Amino acid sequence: MTLGLGRTLSVALTGLDGTLVDVEAHVAQGLPHFAIGGVPDTACAQAPDRVRSAAVSAGFHVPTHRITVNLSRASFPKRGARFDLPIAVAVLTAAGLLRGGALAAEVLHLGELALDGRVRGVRGVLPSVLEAARRGVRHVVVPLENVGEAQLVDGVTVHGAATLRDVVGWYAAAEHGAPLPAAPAPSVVRDEARSGPDLADVVGQPEARLALELAATGGHHLLLSGPPGVGKTMLAERLVTVLPPLTREEALETHAIRSLTDGAGDIGDLDRTPPFVAPHHSSSVAAVAGGGTGVVVPGAISRAHRGVLFLDEAPEFKGSVLQVLRQPLESGEVVIARARQVVRYPARFLLVLAANPCPCGRGWGKGLECTCRPMEIRAYAGRLSGPLLDRVDLQVHVPPVRRAAFADETGESSEVVAARVASARGAQRERWAEGAWVTNGLVPGHVLRRPPFRLPAATTALLDRQLDSGRLTLRGYDRVLRVAWSAADLGGRSVPDADDVAMGLSLRTGELVAA
Ligand SMILES: [Zn+2]
Repeated sequence: MTLGLGRTLSVALTGLDGTLVDVEAHVAQGLPHFAIGGVPDTACAQAPDRVRSAAVSAGFHVPTHRITVNLSRASFPKRGARFDLPIAVAVLTAAGLLRGGALAAEVLHLGELALDGRVRGVRGVLPSVLEAARRGVRHVVVPLENVGEAQLVDGVTVHGAATLRDVVGWYAAAEHGAPLPAAPAPSVVRDEARSGPDLADVVGQPEARLALELAATGGHHLLLSGPPGVGKTMLAERLVTVLPPLTREEALETHAIRSLTDGAGDIGDLDRTPPFVAPHHSSSVAAVAGGGTGVVVPGAISRAHRGVLFLDEAPEFKGSVLQVLRQPLESGEVVIARARQVVRYPARFLLVLAANPCPCGRGWGKGLECTCRPMEIRAYAGRLSGPLLDRVDLQVHVPPVRRAAFADETGESSEVVAARVASARGAQRERWAEGAWVTNGLVPGHVLRRPPFRLPAATTALLDRQLDSGRLTLRGYDRVLRVAWSAADLGGRSVPDADDVAMGLSLRTGELVAA
């Protein structure tokens, strides 16, 4: 038996950030010993048991010598069982049991080993393979279940491993010049936006449709208030159908996040439709913002990155959950600090809040049978008010649909609206090229109140009067200005006119400030 060294590559993840890891095994004479160095967590440190057992199942007897495995660089913590497969490859090479192992030094390996030698799927394969590709790695061996997501990455050949025995066999054949067998290309390549719900399905609701179009145009957060059953969820779901489809880069980023949250095997094709994520109002802070023990898993706000986060019955969410949204709304990312690590996940989402007009849902002051007392209504509205609603430019009321609306012609389709949104987005990109903003919804109020973007007094007269009379706060004033710019962009006007400003004002009918 040759005793010696075995080497291969893997990737460690901190959040979405991958680091290429050298996996090095050394087998020497000495007392039986098998240990992992390089800051493994508990799951990773237990790899020797799984590797030994999987190797036996594959027909190999790992020698009872002194086996040292090092995962470097040591400054990055190694989490989870994803290093089992690379450790097994390195150890079997070092022990002289895997022929052709020299080739493995250039190949990325990821996968957990079951005791019977099967290679189990792991999370985070997509961001890992993206990092490997950036670092020039050309071949990746991943669990069979994870082949689909690994194949989304350009420039790498993906090899799907079902068992440790497979992998050992490949390298043995490679020694005689056979290439590692590549996983078959996906049978259906869908690299485009999908068909699904459509705005044409929405009956009536002209104001809500307009608000939706403006929200998509300017990236304005939106509050839909109205009694249950009027279609607030239906509207919110259709917002992603009028948003510009994700670029390939953006889609890879959103899928990389899903790769950390979804089960292995759930990602197979690149969906360019922005994500729609709707956590339940009983969700915990960790479920919404991200967290968990061990590996910090992205929360709903990161799964909604570049898409829509929909909070139905928003006032029913825990105060701590609503509170945790504020920082990401500001910065577009969430920072989760742990004792030994700080993890950042992107979280630039369009927020859509839905609320009943009052706790009983029937609506106050509408001649309906609302049983709520004024104090209860104020308390309900108060749960959402303040800093969170300050960021919500569009606040509209969604009334029950009257039967007369059925007679209306079918509303515009998502495709028609999306085309207008796309062209209005182009106008914003040009205008805000100097600033760090992509959409009107991100532009600070003071920028819009000062030259060169300050509007003529005649245009803002209506708005100024509301501010002077105290019916509008300065923040409310800024929200109207932002929406007015989006209305102008949709209408193809280079500067908002008085009608655009009036529209911005009118789309505040659903404000939850207790009347
Ligand atoms: Zn009520």
